[in-house]
Amino acid sequence: MAPTKSCGDCSLCCKLLGIASIAKEPGSWCGHYRRGSGCGIYADRPGECRAFMCEWLLSKDFGDEWRPDRAKFVMQYEEKTNRLSVVVDPAQPLAWKREPYYGGIKRLSERVEQGAQVIVCVGAQRIVIFPHEDVDLGPCAPNSRIVSGYATQNGERVAYALLMKDEATA
Ligand code: SF4
Ligand code: SF4
Repeated sequence: MAPTKSCGDCSLCCKLLGIASIAKEPGSWCGHYRRGSGCGIYADRPGECRAFMCEWLLSKDFGDEWRPDRAKFVMQYEEKTNRLSVVVDPAQPLAWKREPYYGGIKRLSERVEQGAQVIVCVGAQRIVIFPHEDVDLGPCAPNSRIVSGYATQNGERVAYALLMKDEATA
C-alpha cells in the first residue's frame, strides 16, 4: 500500500522500535539517529528501516494529531497475526490515555469482533484493549504471545487475554 502522507520531522520509530539487524533495542534512540537531520546512514539503512511504514503514515483515517511524534506512540499493524500494536514512548507512558487517542484506540478495538488484537505496549508492559475494558497483563517476556478474545462464562460473554509461552521462540 502506498503511503498517503510523509514522515516529515517524525522519527519516532527510530526510538521506539527494535531493529534486529543492527542490534538496536526498542525504546531508546538508534545510535545512527541525528537530532535535526534524522538517520545518519540513510542511504545504507537496514532493510527493516526501509520497509517500515507506521499506521499513521498508511491510513487516511488518522489526522495530523496522530503523527507519532505528536501522539508519542507508533502504531504498527501485523497482517499475519491481525494485531495492531500501539508502541508508546516510555518517556510518556500515559500518552495513549489522552484524548483523542484513547477514544480512538477504543474504536479501533472494535476489530476484536473480527478476531483482531489491539495491544498497547509500554516497555515490556502489555495492555490488551477491548471496546469495554482494558486487560493489563503487566510486564511480558519477549518470547511470550498473547491469546485474547471473548468467551462465554455462566451464560455471559466475557473478554479474556492470556499470556502463552511461544514455542516458536522459546
Ligand atoms: S513513526 Fe511513522 S511517521 Fe514517524 S518516522 Fe516512523 S514511519 Fe514515519
Ligand atoms: S538505522 Fe537509521 S532509519 Fe534505522 S532506526 Fe537507525 S536512525 Fe532510524
